[in-house]
Amino acid sequence: MNRIPNIKPVSKAPPRKEKAPPEVPALITDKERNTIYEKGRFLGKGGFAHCYELKNRSTGEIVAGKVVPKSMLVKQYQRDKMTQEVQIHRELSHPNIVKLFNFFEDPLNVYITLELCARRSLMELHKRRRAVTEPEARYFTHQVVEGVLYLHDLRIIHRDMKLGNLFLNDDLVVKIGDFGLATTVDGDERKKTLCGTPNYIAPEVLNKMGHSFEVDIWAVGCILYILLFGQPPFESKSLEETYSRIRHNNYTIPSNATPPAAALIRRMLDPEPTRRPTAKQVHRDIFFKSGFMPTRLPVSCLTMVPKFG
Ligand code: ADP
Repeated sequence: MNRIPNIKPVSKAPPRKEKAPPEVPALITDKERNTIYEKGRFLGKGGFAHCYELKNRSTGEIVAGKVVPKSMLVKQYQRDKMTQEVQIHRELSHPNIVKLFNFFEDPLNVYITLELCARRSLMELHKRRRAVTEPEARYFTHQVVEGVLYLHDLRIIHRDMKLGNLFLNDDLVVKIGDFGLATTVDGDERKKTLCGTPNYIAPEVLNKMGHSFEVDIWAVGCILYILLFGQPPFESKSLEETYSRIRHNNYTIPSNATPPAAALIRRMLDPEPTRRPTAKQVHRDIFFKSGFMPTRLPVSCLTMVPKFG
């Protein structure tokens, strides 16, 4: 792949209003690769980016295109953050990680082309279904853990594992995306800073104790909890109260939980990071063998409880 373009700010551009849709041409040209994309349907927006389907004019292939207006990248730290995100993400190749294809710019915007995840994310599934069945929770969580295992083996921490960053393709395969808070770990260093607020923030991040791979395991614990019980373990009316609950490890596991599910969640939500299981240990946990784990799920399960068998 070509080198990452050195993103230059547009001079004199007025600061954009937050989240105003970027000006995106109907035809987008990647000059370096001589590729023209037709802009298709709007897929969603995040803190920085608006995302559209892009159709490659010569191959017909449809990808997801993340569009970031250059006016959102005026400050050096904003450009650094985006370069860091792309630098980590572009090297990754795994069935449970959103593939990053390319990175280019035109005078208005920076574009990142990504593997299309047309079935949105586990967040939309959760909003529609609330708690899912235990076989579904096994299916989704196992794929998430396969992705995390791959990242941790490469010494990468994602640091913002959450339902909205767990995308789904047409086959309902889970793909971890959004590497905006990801970082690489040297040796046994513990990270001291995190520029951003992860959704399922681990106590050692809140307490600024230094953090590492275990923060992703904590977040996977929160994700499994939400999938099974329909709400986050530390949820409360205010962020302050939620943080207090996280600091005090104040959560309860519903009494209808199966013992293997309850045991795995308790281990992943251990307040002491060194006592949490590693991704490898989670991957071979008894929970995944303690009942049915589908190899695929029907698209209907995005809205309805599936019937197994
Ligand atoms: P940001 O970096 O600004 O937070 P996100 O990565 O969250 O941007 O992407 C913004 C939105 O774009 C997502 O919430 C989702 O709706 C959509 N999106 C992102 N990546 C994809 C993808 N690979 N396939 C389909 N939609 C995507």
